[in-house]
Amino acid sequence: MLGFDFEEERIKQEITKLGAKRVLLQMPEGLKPEAPKLAKIVEKSGAVAIISADPCYGACDIAVNEAEGLGVDLIVHFGHARMVKHEQVPTIYVEARATVTVDKAVEQSLPLLINYSKIGLATSVQHLQTLNQAREILTRTGKTVIIGDAGQMSYPGQVSGCNYSNVKSIANEVEAFLFVGGGMFHALGIALSTSKPTIIADPYDNRAYSIGAEAQKILKQRFASIQEAKTAKKFGIFVGLKPGQKHLGNALHMKELAEKNGKAAYLLTAREITPETLLEFPSIDAYVNTACPRISLDASGKFQKPVLTVNEFMVVCGESSWENMLKKGLFEN
Ligand code: SF4
Repeated sequence: MLGFDFEEERIKQEITKLGAKRVLLQMPEGLKPEAPKLAKIVEKSGAVAIISADPCYGACDIAVNEAEGLGVDLIVHFGHARMVKHEQVPTIYVEARATVTVDKAVEQSLPLLINYSKIGLATSVQHLQTLNQAREILTRTGKTVIIGDAGQMSYPGQVSGCNYSNVKSIANEVEAFLFVGGGMFHALGIALSTSKPTIIADPYDNRAYSIGAEAQKILKQRFASIQEAKTAKKFGIFVGLKPGQKHLGNALHMKELAEKNGKAAYLLTAREITPETLLEFPSIDAYVNTACPRISLDASGKFQKPVLTVNEFMVVCGESSWENMLKKGLFEN
């Protein structure tokens, strides 16, 4: 199939090895158009294929409950590397590495990196195989290139939507970051986690651009949300239901902190936190989100009430300052 490596042979082998009779296919939105073709591959291996049509934003969201309910004996999760350890239903991860080349996009980034000599290189799981090529291009122009490996991710240089440990581990050694991949999502996470200039080399558009203005815009929104939340009397504390977003202990701690600061706090649970979810609770003034931290940052403008990350709530409660939180990161522990 064009564009991504779906490792069809490995999928067939795993089905045969496990003797799987019913297979659930789960993938993020961008890969769903390929689902019918992938289902055919499963069927050719002698198993029934069921495509999960629900949204899937990350490896935090393995469809274990759905699989158990449907008597599925193998989940094939596409587009992400393993994040959650679970044994209930055998699961294989097909990372769907992109086949696009990155040379042109990385070359486009050179003028934007002209003032920096030490560059941190990072990417999402789809483009990990291109990091060496990107490093070579940068090194050829005299740059020192560092790729972080903090040991929390599956691969050196890899970032996910909520884990920037690899870039944070080298932030003090580099002057700027180059992210290889499409869209602003991951690069924004790098800029917000490290406070370093961050350039995107987008191989789909063969162009490079800075994420600086967007990061500043988000920081201003976050500062305003924290200020507004300081005047809130009632807080809703969200606990996620997706396997990698279920942090009940953290939520209970946030409730205690709120009450210690003279605020009322209520625990809420949801699979998806949306602007509509909040409309159902008009008496609640502000929220703390212990589920997916990117909901707070990326959908900030859509919510009518502040929806803070855990680290931001620490600032509201006087447990941290804005400056210290920025050093730690808006949303990482
Ligand atoms: S918690 Fe959010 S950012 Fe992290 S993997 Fe899940 S969807 Fe992505």
